[in-house]
Amino acid sequence: MEGIVKPSGNRTKEGLLGEIIGLRLLSLHFFGVMIHSALLSIGKSVIITIMPTQRQKILDHLSKGTYTLQELSVELHMSIKELLLHLPHVQKSIRPPNRFVIDPAGCLNCGYVFKDRTKLHSPGKCPRCRETHIKEPAYHIE
Ligand SMILES: [Zn+2]
Repeated sequence: MEGIVKPSGNRTKEGLLGEIIGLRLLSLHFFGVMIHSALLSIGKSVIITIMPTQRQKILDHLSKGTYTLQELSVELHMSIKELLLHLPHVQKSIRPPNRFVIDPAGCLNCGYVFKDRTKLHSPGKCPRCRETHIKEPAYHIE
């Protein structure tokens, strides 16, 4: 009788031990996942906080004065490409009574004004005289 009971008792103990180890591994795994997702969210918030800083700089400048992309690029040490990436977001973030104002590009040869142009970058050539000598558009927030 004892001979039969004893191994079964041992088996239960082993089973319990296995279960504890299993739970430990499981909780370690969960801990790892938690750390991983925490790091991920920290990373994301770092990216999120970096982006508005650049946009905030653009916003601050355009609230104080009128700038072309070229001038903003020099002022803010940002490439035109980078500015063109942020500028539409800055433009969309402006709410009445404030306005994002575009001083339109113009042809320096015939005087054509690109007043209906919605694209923010400077046009390549004049649709009227085909001249490529174009005055850059400038932007400000009023
Ligand atoms: Zn022209």
